[in-house]
Amino acid sequence: MSARRPEAVEAPGRFSPEAGGALAPNASGNVGARHVHSLAPRRASLMQEPVLVLNATYEPINVTAVRRAMVLLLKGVAQAEEVHNAEVHSSAHAHKVPSVIRLLAYRHIPQQSRALSRKNILLRDRNTCQFCGKVFPSSELTLDHVLPRSRGGRSSWENLVACCYRCNNHKGDRTPEEAGLKLARKPRPFTLHTSRQLMRLIGHRDERWRKYLFY
Ligand SMILES: [Zn+2]
Repeated sequence: MSARRPEAVEAPGRFSPEAGGALAPNASGNVGARHVHSLAPRRASLMQEPVLVLNATYEPINVTAVRRAMVLLLKGVAQAEEVHNAEVHSSAHAHKVPSVIRLLAYRHIPQQSRALSRKNILLRDRNTCQFCGKVFPSSELTLDHVLPRSRGGRSSWENLVACCYRCNNHKGDRTPEEAGLKLARKPRPFTLHTSRQLMRLIGHRDERWRKYLFY
């Protein structure tokens, strides 16, 4: 087993708290929760909806969850560029739920370190086990280190692939060649193209994102 703790795949020191979180919104939405406890959302799930984060230059840099985006707005770090019709209420104010926000100060965020997460690897691989080629729900997939960690394999875009538990068990602590497995395709490194593609996948239901992602 080369990916026992898929949730723990993170680059060290990857982003500042203000940078907007991982590319895919954090399902637990726990980032900065202490700042929004006074907000009473109509639906809890609304707070987990994805929000596109633009840099000050309007360059799309990230995806976060509504909860986190609200924190950035209330702190004055970002402003809303696009909003949903829905509102959330704090004790004194009603706030439109953001769909796209823009950071007011430009931030330099290294691409590679920002987006490495289980969710993003599964998105890149379209929830397809890269060894047997079958599509699985996220809960039935793990991350496999192609070159096992015990052999010095790194947690990187180039060395992590979506993998079903069956293939993962079969592969164990071996390379694909040793286990008689073949990768469906060579894992692609993270590029600006990957980033845009992931953002489009995450935001495909929200037309407000389109003009920022050029499609
Ligand atoms: Zn498989």
